[in-house]
Amino acid sequence: MDCKELLNLLYQMYPNAGCELEYFSPFSFLCAVILSAQTTDKAVNKVTKELFSRYKTIDSLANANRNEIMQIIAPIGLMKNKSEYIIKLANIVKNKYNGIIPTNREELLQLPGVGRKTANVYLAQIYNVPAIAVDTHVNRVSKRLGLALEEDSVLDVENKLMEYFAKDDWIRAHHGLLFLGRYKCLAKKPECQTCLLKKNCKYWKEINENE
Ligand code: SF4
Repeated sequence: MDCKELLNLLYQMYPNAGCELEYFSPFSFLCAVILSAQTTDKAVNKVTKELFSRYKTIDSLANANRNEIMQIIAPIGLMKNKSEYIIKLANIVKNKYNGIIPTNREELLQLPGVGRKTANVYLAQIYNVPAIAVDTHVNRVSKRLGLALEEDSVLDVENKLMEYFAKDDWIRAHHGLLFLGRYKCLAKKPECQTCLLKKNCKYWKEINENE
C-alpha cells in the first residue's frame, strides 16, 4: 500500500492521534516517558500528577527520598528502577546541564532510563524533530501490516518505517500506528472487522486465506 494512503486511513481512524502523556515542562515529559515503560499512559498520568504536585522542581526531585518516590509510582510497576532513574536524571540535569535537558540525541542517550525509543519520543514531542519511536504497539502493527518482517529487531522496524514514510510524516505516522495498536490492533485480539486497513493488511489476508 502506498504510504500516503496508509496515512490517510490512519487519519480517518484516529484524527486526534497524538501524545497522551500529560506534562508541563520538558523535564516532566522526559520523566513521564521514562515512567511509561511497560505500562499505560493513563496509569502514568495518574502517578505523575501526584509526583509533580509533591516535587515541583528538578531540584526537589534531585533531593527526593527514594522510598517516597517508590510509594508514589508503585501502581505503574518497576518502581525500583524507575525511582532510581528519575532521581538520577534530576541530579544529572541539575548538576551537569544546569537544569536544561540536552537536545542532542547522543547526550540524551547517556541519561538514566533513556533508550532510543525514549529519545525519539522526547525529541519529536518537545522539538518536533522527525523521528519514529518503535514501542510494542508500533512494532506489532508494523509487522501485522507487512511493513516489517516478524523477525525484525526494533531497530530494523524503525529503519524500515523511516524508509517507507516521508520524513515530514514520521511523527504523524508514529502517532497513527501507535493509536492503531493501542485501540484496535490489540495484541491478543485485533478488531480487524472494523479496521480500515484490513484490505491491505498481511495479517488479515493470512487469516482469511487459512479459513
Ligand atoms: S486488519 Fe487487523 S491485524 Fe490488520 S492492522 Fe487492522 S486490526 Fe491490525
